[in-house]
Amino acid sequence: MRKILLVEDEENIVFAVKRFLENTGYTVCAVCTLSEAKACFQNGFDLILLDLNLPDGDGFTFLDFVREKSSIPVICLTVRDSDRDVIGGLESGADDYITKPFKLTVLKARIETVLRRVKKNLKIQSILQSDGVTLDKNLKKVFVDEREEELSRKEFELMCLFMENPGRTLTRELIIDIVWGRDSDFVYDNTLSVNIRRLRQKLGPYRNRIQTVRGFGYRWDEGEMPK
Ligand code: CA
Repeated sequence: MRKILLVEDEENIVFAVKRFLENTGYTVCAVCTLSEAKACFQNGFDLILLDLNLPDGDGFTFLDFVREKSSIPVICLTVRDSDRDVIGGLESGADDYITKPFKLTVLKARIETVLRRVKKNLKIQSILQSDGVTLDKNLKKVFVDEREEELSRKEFELMCLFMENPGRTLTRELIIDIVWGRDSDFVYDNTLSVNIRRLRQKLGPYRNRIQTVRGFGYRWDEGEMPK
């Protein structure tokens, strides 16, 4: 069952929204302050309905808090229909907004649209495929000709980077920066080469997908496979 976090301080809205959504098959957890919202955020929700005017602050601060941690869909509820709020909300990472007063059926339709979009995006982005190589970002698994290969975390991140950027030459510096991030100052010069060598071994017949671009770095090649 879909779980929704409702952050709203107006009792009559909480009552109506909760009852309506629970009757249509959602589980609703309702809180009326930012601090309560932060406290129960980690309980795992499918969507957040967020009022922008709350007794202990601005809903935007909670939106920032959420966006630092997750991409869970957020729909803002607001009485303020100014362009500033709408633009501010969308720029802060809200997926949609709805202005009070609203019809419950409209709210439900908005929720369903956002959830559908998220599901579609997840599906598109979570599986990357190139010939016999399949990478599942949700399961953190790589399959070569349908057989699962055990990859280290860094090898997996390298594969993600390559498969998300087919045909693009990625410099050694860029790769190290993205895959090793904060630790990149401590990466030995041959660390990347060693990881690439292991990755090629695991790719078996597709080892040549990872092309060395001399003097620059590497490129994931999706063209004709060199013999
Ligand atoms: Ca309010």
